[in-house]
Amino acid sequence: MERLTNEILEVGLRAGRRAAQICRQVLAEAPAEPDAMAKLGKEPVTVADYGSQAVILEAVRRHFPSHAVIAEEGAQHLRENAGDASSEQIVRLVGEALERPVDFEEVCDWIDHEGGTSSELTWAIDPIDGTKGFLRRDQFAVAIGVLVGGEPFAGVLVCPNLPVDDEHPEAGHGVAFLAARGRGTLRQPLAGGEARRVRVSDVHGPEQARVLGSVESAHGDPKMLVAVREDLGLGGGIVRVDSQVKYGVVASGGAEIYLRPQSRPDYREKIWDHAAGVIVTQEAGGRVTDLRGRELDFSLGRRLEQNRGVLATNSWLHDEVLESLGRLGAGG
Ligand code: AMP
Ligand code: MG
Repeated sequence: MERLTNEILEVGLRAGRRAAQICRQVLAEAPAEPDAMAKLGKEPVTVADYGSQAVILEAVRRHFPSHAVIAEEGAQHLRENAGDASSEQIVRLVGEALERPVDFEEVCDWIDHEGGTSSELTWAIDPIDGTKGFLRRDQFAVAIGVLVGGEPFAGVLVCPNLPVDDEHPEAGHGVAFLAARGRGTLRQPLAGGEARRVRVSDVHGPEQARVLGSVESAHGDPKMLVAVREDLGLGGGIVRVDSQVKYGVVASGGAEIYLRPQSRPDYREKIWDHAAGVIVTQEAGGRVTDLRGRELDFSLGRRLEQNRGVLATNSWLHDEVLESLGRLGAGG
């Protein structure tokens, strides 16, 4: 397993870097002015989503053909629009990232790669998590998680816009978190350089506890964040950040609590929105459950069918937050 784990992390990091290169290139080719960008609608996301998923699954298919894959996108819509400007841009960017010419059919096949069905290993992939943040040129992530027997086992969480050094944002942006069961969590500059081990913060009390939530209020319940904060007297403030970058921030000790209340009673979280992030936080010493304190169950297909919302913490404050959520009636 040792060798397999190393290979998973290496392949994941290389693929995640290529995916980040595509995402950055899409932004570089998009208009800089927010108005002109807004006119393009979701088009830049579409191009980057497909391109990112193609390079990740090209690598998974080549190195681990028998592993199963659950990924957010499928190529059907892309195939229906073959030959349009976006599809040509996708093929060009994938070719640039792989440093060889590729054709449209190959790209579609990579995007649709589902792998084998007999493997214990499943890759859970979100090619761009936090699409709204991506469009704002703010935080987003390329999330590559690996489940073994339905539990998060390894993760590569690429955060192209996260500062390499939180204390010195002028030192550049682009970070990858690498984690595997029993091995801890590493934070490495995307551009290369030394990987360092990260740990969650050891803040024990509520006075200094910082809370992370979604930027998009529709993805959660901002009132619940405020209610928990008041109930427990959490004094460190609330910061809103897009995507699984939140898991990386908790893992690095930049906040104590990532609270994701249910946006509505029937919403079920998608596995690719959490698989990579959960192992990154756990291996840094953190704890992750749903709002009622249950383990997240990744064994039920594309969604966390049995869970309600998500709570990730530095572990010290976990039970207190769960109790508060219970008092406030969160999680049904
Ligand atoms: P965040 O950036 O943390 O707000 O999370 C982004 C993710 O939220 C996206 O990848 C979506 O899969 C997911 N999402 C979309 N709609 C909802 C919803 N109604 N409730 C919770 N999450 C959602
Ligand atoms: Mg997502």
